[in-house]
Amino acid sequence: MDVTNTTMLGVRDAVASKEVSAVEVTRAYLDRIEKHNEALGAYLEVHDERALQRAADVDKGQLTGPLAGVPIAVKDLFCTSYGKTTASSRMLENYRSPFTATAVQRLEDAGAIILGKTSMDEYAMGSSCETCAFGGAKNPWDPSRVPGGSSGGSAAAMAADLCAAAIGSDTGGSIRQPAALTGVVGMKPTYGRISRYGMIAFASSLDQCGPFARTVADAALLLKVMSGVDPMDATSAPVDVEPDLDEVEREVKNLRIGVAKQYMLEGANDPAVQQATDDAIKFYESQGATIVEVDLPHTKYGIPVYYVVATAECSSNLARYDGVHFGHRTAEPANDIVELFSKSRAEGFGDEVKRRIMLGTYALSSGYYDAYYNRALKVRRLIKNDFDAAFEQCDAILCPTTTTPAFKIGEKADDPLSMYLNDVYTVNAPLAGIAGISLPAGTTEVDGKALPVGVQLIGDAFAEAKLLRVARLYEAGHDHWNLRPAL
Ligand code: GLN
Repeated sequence: MDVTNTTMLGVRDAVASKEVSAVEVTRAYLDRIEKHNEALGAYLEVHDERALQRAADVDKGQLTGPLAGVPIAVKDLFCTSYGKTTASSRMLENYRSPFTATAVQRLEDAGAIILGKTSMDEYAMGSSCETCAFGGAKNPWDPSRVPGGSSGGSAAAMAADLCAAAIGSDTGGSIRQPAALTGVVGMKPTYGRISRYGMIAFASSLDQCGPFARTVADAALLLKVMSGVDPMDATSAPVDVEPDLDEVEREVKNLRIGVAKQYMLEGANDPAVQQATDDAIKFYESQGATIVEVDLPHTKYGIPVYYVVATAECSSNLARYDGVHFGHRTAEPANDIVELFSKSRAEGFGDEVKRRIMLGTYALSSGYYDAYYNRALKVRRLIKNDFDAAFEQCDAILCPTTTTPAFKIGEKADDPLSMYLNDVYTVNAPLAGIAGISLPAGTTEVDGKALPVGVQLIGDAFAEAKLLRVARLYEAGHDHWNLRPAL
């Protein structure tokens, strides 16, 4: 069996039945990384020795669990007590964390083998992986195109089979958008589902960890393993993890799929994206689901609200990187502490991060606080109210994940606004704290190359079990999940 051309559960079961050893599996993935990572830039750092050691522990029966022997890639904003954790920023170029993020720890406790840390937009700010200070990842379907962002490295690693599964973070779309652009499953769980402890903070009221996977069942098991309250994160929710969270084959009775006109920006959508969404609606109908029209009138405020709230929180979170408490310190002489801070920050942060810090500082400054930040919070509540009302009428909302397939590297790099508009379909779910999943929905040909498109399902808070089952129904009716780029 080719262990790099299967599913995560396929790998796990092959190891469990001793069809292959965990060391063989790990070696196979490391070989593939060796072969393809230079061209794709998915991993910033590979932990081969440690991975092989842990795989040997699995083979000796010393490391067991539901993920025993499964090779996983981790976005480089999860702290690990081994290797570096850079958040793709010069600011943290040589940072070594003394501890491991809870999400990663839970994967490891379940027997997973962490292969390495993946490239991302600096501090997770971006939609293309181009703001990485150490070289962004490329799209395995067409390396002249972006893999999406900010978790672009994890998505690229997943799509190119350089891991059996991966994790990333989603603040405004950073798991779902790259999943759509690379043709894999990507899920943003409910805020509070998975501990944020050890995740380098961007916007703390939005940031959430989630899985990338080949299939819905793989994503469900990863979610189940990582979920649950954590004393180290006061915002992790004290909600029991349902024992059947990963039983994705279960039927959702009397399924109602919501469709909102505000999530169907037909004029803005690429024809292939529109087609995939329309086909998905028809598919659910053919499966006996009722299609319900829902109204989400405050959707259009999502982008402005997100870019006020996220930048405000980022300006506060990133204040700690001053070259004294944390991060890069300038080698230049400085006359006083303010000069030391400002020189260190000027050298350590990239342009996009600086732009966000400035926007956020402005939105929080006295005199503007009420007009921007406070008002954004009020509208955020209205967006949440829209969803609350919609979920009275339906089980999940179906919409595109992105308006277009992957764009060219450089195409939007100098146009922050068009980059921000990429997130029209993904920012509202995190603003409301609810869950969303992007599913592969086939490919479309652009410039002679097949490029993936995705469809998205949005589900209510802590209703992931249902959301995953609805997603599985779509997956089971299509073979999109198994499409792979030719490398
Ligand atoms: N693209 C969005 C942004 O730039 C979302 C990023 C994310 O989810 N981390 O903020």
